[in-house]
Amino acid sequence: MLSLCARGHKFYQKQWGDAGVNIADIQTIDDLENLPLTHKQELMAAPEDFRLNLPDLPLHERALWEVLYTTGSTSDPVPLYNTTYDYHAYLHQSQIVADISGIGESDVIANLFPLTPAPMGAFVRSAGNAYAAGATIFAALPGGAFGPFDVHRSLDQAVARVEKHRATILWGVPSYIRRLLIRALELKSDLSSVRMCAITGEATSPALREDIRRCLREMGAAQPVIFNRYGSTEMGAFAQCQEEGDWHNPSPELQYHEIVDPETGRRLPDGERGTLAVTHLDKRGTALIRFVVGDIVSIDRTPCPHCGRTSERVVGPVVRTKDLIKVKGMLINPDVLLDALQSMPAIAEFQIVIQQEDATDPLSMDEMLIRVALQNKADASIAEEIAARGRKAVNVTPRVEIVAMEDIYNAGAQTKAVRFVDRRSSSASTVR
Ligand SMILES: [Zn+2]
Repeated sequence: MLSLCARGHKFYQKQWGDAGVNIADIQTIDDLENLPLTHKQELMAAPEDFRLNLPDLPLHERALWEVLYTTGSTSDPVPLYNTTYDYHAYLHQSQIVADISGIGESDVIANLFPLTPAPMGAFVRSAGNAYAAGATIFAALPGGAFGPFDVHRSLDQAVARVEKHRATILWGVPSYIRRLLIRALELKSDLSSVRMCAITGEATSPALREDIRRCLREMGAAQPVIFNRYGSTEMGAFAQCQEEGDWHNPSPELQYHEIVDPETGRRLPDGERGTLAVTHLDKRGTALIRFVVGDIVSIDRTPCPHCGRTSERVVGPVVRTKDLIKVKGMLINPDVLLDALQSMPAIAEFQIVIQQEDATDPLSMDEMLIRVALQNKADASIAEEIAARGRKAVNVTPRVEIVAMEDIYNAGAQTKAVRFVDRRSSSASTVR
């Protein structure tokens, strides 16, 4: 992997040149510590520079199979490139994930991830996971509507599809799955076929996971299982062999993990909590070496006490260190939104609040609320434009509330206005 990068990876050619590293000196896992870390900001600044460019490779190692996007700190998501070779590697990895999680040919997977403006890994890869396991899959296509083609589907339609196809596995963002189950209970739908939920994309608490189980039990599911899928588009997927367990690296031949000090790049001993870094070992499209994921975890390399597998396990709790926050499963950067609102002259004061949709229900879905106080001459109809600007900035549609200036910023009592408030109980430190 390192010699491929030395031949055709623009970013690492420069980074290693600047650092005076001779790749021939990197011979062991221990030597890897001598390479600089890669930070997400560097990937976001120049995603094309992270793509291997080696015209002499065989076609399947060069041909672009898919582009997935990961949300960055600008409003534009960052493209990650996968060649045919990488797609096969992902199928291989998904087969092992399915084995570890007990997903097989008799399963019917409901892909409940939203249709988003740029292709997100979780949505696109759901099909590959089903192909690898030999399972059946269909999609519910939820999400905020955009574009002229009317392909998004409502919550009730999603419930109907899950019931009709007798889905055994619900695959999606946990707060959406929970909402779907609550709606199914209201509609008295029969979702007793569901035996597992594979959730990813946002922080969940044990209480939310237990509430999802409760809904499934009420619908007649005997012993519903919830697997919390840890991973990202950059990292690939990890798998739990049992509920609430550690995350196994399914394919240590494809990705190497270490815990590092993000300032010095020094590796920390196993069992010590620190910043997770991933190194691709066999990639052909976008390739990352010692990439800082942005989560604080520890690693255990002893055999799993439950299943005996010997690849390393990521041990939680997962604490996110990025400035980015997740709303409805989408990573957003509050700064981009602040910039967009600060540029609107009609707004006198504003505050962005991330909270639960239903304040009495701590497990309900996220809501982004923009509270604004308007300048004297401004018309209240500007609320629509504010919502549109917010959506354009971060791809999440906010609710806009017009309030009095003092409701946001009481200049007599506060030293400065608080522009960003996260009222969610689970926002500080849980698994995404
Ligand atoms: Zn295990």
